[in-house]
Amino acid sequence: MKTRSRRPLSTSRKVRSFTRLLRQQAAKKLSRGKHAFDALKTINELKSEVALLTSYSTDVIYRLRYDSMKYDYISPSVTKLLGFAPEEMQRINIRSLIVETKIVNDGMKTVDSFDKLESTRKKGEVSKWQADYLMKTKDGRRIWVSDISYPWFDESGAIVGSVGSLRDISERIAAENMVKEELKRIANTDPLTSLANRRVFFEKTEEELKRIKRARSEFSMLLLDIDHFKKINDNHGHDVGDFVLIEISKVIKEALREIDIPARLGGEEFGLFLPETNAQGAMHVAERVRSAIAKHTFISDATLNRPIGCTVSIGVVTVRFDEDMDAARLYKLADTRLYIAKNSGRNQVIGSTAPVAQRHGTPVH
Ligand code: GH3
Ligand code: MG
Ligand code: MG
Repeated sequence: MKTRSRRPLSTSRKVRSFTRLLRQQAAKKLSRGKHAFDALKTINELKSEVALLTSYSTDVIYRLRYDSMKYDYISPSVTKLLGFAPEEMQRINIRSLIVETKIVNDGMKTVDSFDKLESTRKKGEVSKWQADYLMKTKDGRRIWVSDISYPWFDESGAIVGSVGSLRDISERIAAENMVKEELKRIANTDPLTSLANRRVFFEKTEEELKRIKRARSEFSMLLLDIDHFKKINDNHGHDVGDFVLIEISKVIKEALREIDIPARLGGEEFGLFLPETNAQGAMHVAERVRSAIAKHTFISDATLNRPIGCTVSIGVVTVRFDEDMDAARLYKLADTRLYIAKNSGRNQVIGSTAPVAQRHGTPVH
């Protein structure tokens, strides 16, 4: 059997349906020939129920006058929402409590200037106003509030203000922000090693090329490629290969400073970004990374009790603010040096200066 799911009514709809009910019941009683007093009693009972509903609901109902931008009426629940008593709220210009506004029908864009928006609203040209506000509360907190309102016209059809409701949506905004953060993290992260991905690495390079020009400083880039990685896959299987990639990422991270950015550029190639690092410093870091990896024992699991060794070759480039360099050329230069490191025996570092590392023998793959 089909069951129909019921959405909870908003406070304004509840109030509207109560008012309707009120009229219907009063009319019914009067038509039954009952005394008008009974109808009045019903009206009073229903009125007190409406009052109860508005005071218990966390939604705030209001009527706002556009001439003063102050509330003509605001329900008592505003105290729960913003900390102000309704009488206090009626004296405050609402704009003074709003820190940021996002318009729902404009793709949640933040409003820079209210003037144009407010003039169309005040002319009654906006039939439904829906926005989220970041608002200041009486005790100095900031909360996100959703505002839905409709124009309020007088009998002659002239616009007086708006009638609407406010609702605390801080929890929903916090949840949305968490989702956004998580999506950003996924978009920036290599799923296997949890390092930054290629896109982040090149974005950072572009950014830093501009920054060093302004700051008159320098940075270095290291390109690192695992030596004979194919043999690890061939001898021990792809899973062990993956394990080595994860393990190498940890070793690299430990050998770097907090401000350095290691990234997996693809396959078994890594890019290490070293801000504020000169050529000598970069050679030093590269050698530290190389030797940490060469010394590390990679063992995948209990069934594989033979230690697996692994080495890397590294190409190093440094760029200063007074050099004419772009990201593609910088990468190409690092790649050329990596190629030289590979062709002159692997397990070594090549930079603009002579290799600092001596080969330390060939590990077991
Ligand atoms: P060289 O010292 O010249 O760099 O030799 P190499 O064997 O490391 O380089 P080659 O480019 O011949 O092989 C790279 C291998 O890396 C081949 C490819 O299957 C493997 N590989 C790339 N990505 C992954 C991955 O995500 N996981 C695993 N297990 N292997 C990968
Ligand atoms: Mg390789
Ligand atoms: Mg490679």
